[in-house]
Amino acid sequence: MVDLAINGIAGRMGRTLVDRAAEREDVTVRCGIDVDTDADLSVAVYDPAETAQALSEHDPDVLIDFTVPDATVDVAQACADAGVALVVGTTGFEDDQLAVLDSVSAAVPVLKATNFSRGIQALRRALGPALEALPDYDVELLETHHNAKRDAPSGTAKTLLSDIETHREFDTVAGREGIQPREDDEIGMLVRRAGDIRGEHELLLAGNDEVLTLTHRAEDRGVFAAGALDAAVWVAGQDPGRYDFGDAIDAS
Ligand code: NAD
Repeated sequence: MVDLAINGIAGRMGRTLVDRAAEREDVTVRCGIDVDTDADLSVAVYDPAETAQALSEHDPDVLIDFTVPDATVDVAQACADAGVALVVGTTGFEDDQLAVLDSVSAAVPVLKATNFSRGIQALRRALGPALEALPDYDVELLETHHNAKRDAPSGTAKTLLSDIETHREFDTVAGREGIQPREDDEIGMLVRRAGDIRGEHELLLAGNDEVLTLTHRAEDRGVFAAGALDAAVWVAGQDPGRYDFGDAIDAS
């Protein structure tokens, strides 16, 4: 049994984690942290200023964080001080914030992923062979998320661009406007925000007479929650260091 704390427990992902954890026998949510302490939840919810107290009183093995980057940085330091492993799903970090996660990982295991769905992990592994097989094809990336998403392009889209970079050199073009013909070595990065769409990513490779698309669509936030809970169970037994969701998947 792995004991959990959830940072951002009152949010979309926080609540989904609580629901999905209740269906499992390998995890228990002991407490939550959120600026919204009035949230109607089945566990105690602490204000961020009380994070050290929450960790001390409930002694979780792992804290799962789905918040905003500033909050992640603060809670990461508290986890290092308390010896609590960290799973980070939050996206939109600046380099200096990522450096804090790196430094925290000297004290506790830190598993961070921009996407906790197994389908996206499979897409990441499939894109390399596709790019290698179609070296001259144009590549474009489209992502679509709900209208409350803060960061753009999505963390997943940035991860996919970084994966593509290991196979091709390119410049990223954020949308197109006016007279802007496509250059050979560019990838158009297109972003849509609408409704409550959980998350869609489409990688398009086009030659002159054919088109290949690799598309992933998350149909329920439960898919991210399930992956984050799997990651928490795995990371609870690891040494301090930085890990990705792929490490947890490979181990299982
Ligand atoms: P949300 O806005 O619904 O929830 C965020 C929660 O964090 C809110 O309840 C908010 O009150 C809380 N919060 C804000 N500041 C805080 C602080 N200082 N301390 C503690 N809690 C604080 O957002 P969401 O849809 O749940 O997404 C959260 C993050 O997770 C975003 O960055 C999103 O991009 C990311 N996300 C990642 C994945 C993945 O698979 N990695 C999946 C979905 C969402």
